[in-house]
Amino acid sequence: MNEPRRARPVVLAAPSGAGKTTIARRLVDSGDDFVFSVSATTRAPRKGERDGIDYVFTNRERFLEMVGHGEFAEWAEVHGRLYGTPLRNLVEAAETGVHPLLDIDVQGARQIRESVPEALLVFVLPPSGEAWVDRLRGRGTEDDDEVTLRLETAAAELDAVRGFDVVVVNDDLDETVDRVRAIVLSGAPGLETDERDRRVEGLRADLARTLTGRT
Ligand code: ADP
Ligand code: 5GP
Repeated sequence: MNEPRRARPVVLAAPSGAGKTTIARRLVDSGDDFVFSVSATTRAPRKGERDGIDYVFTNRERFLEMVGHGEFAEWAEVHGRLYGTPLRNLVEAAETGVHPLLDIDVQGARQIRESVPEALLVFVLPPSGEAWVDRLRGRGTEDDDEVTLRLETAAAELDAVRGFDVVVVNDDLDETVDRVRAIVLSGAPGLETDERDRRVEGLRADLARTLTGRT
């Protein structure tokens, strides 16, 4: 019997609101190459989110028990809540030869870099500060304080970009999804380093203006 083809895990990380969950869902829905890695979290479900499909929703006590039992490939506290990738997700994907797609934060991405060296780390940038804030507010799932918290965290998240294998800009959604698929399946390139650095500096400046109210 043939051994199943091993498909490397793909980590999609981005500052909140850049669009990584949307991209991940599109990649999963558009064929058989990817399976979404459903994380566990202690945050409350948003309207429309389904337990076991979007996240496994749990409480802090149970989450920490799972940590104690070594059930996570990585876990982190993000915006005051706990999030983790069940190790089982990676094992099951490896058995079926499908790329597990991890929609996780930059702390989790660092842990995966250490524990799963063959993983491909993809960082998603929004096209501009303006589009970014619009997307975050337009999603309508966080109140103003939550949006501010996410933008404050974003500055630190942008610092992590250099540790990623590839960087993409999520401007047109269809193009971005095609680009990420091509990067994973056929080794297409992401942004050049100079362009990446230029964009990150631009976003940092936009973010500073937004947070000080000088829009
Ligand atoms: P993240 O998972 O990075 O926090 P989401 O995937 O939830 O971000 O996307 C944030 C919002 O931006 C959502 O309302 C989503 O529909 C929208 N969005 C995502 N990608 C694009 C895009 N390329 N163009 C316009 N809107 C987008
Ligand atoms: P949200 O609450 O908006 O769904 O997610 C908040 C942040 O937590 C996002 O950056 C998301 O990618 C990240 N996240 C979701 N699941 C995990 C996980 O399993 N591990 C880590 N480290 N971060 C996660």
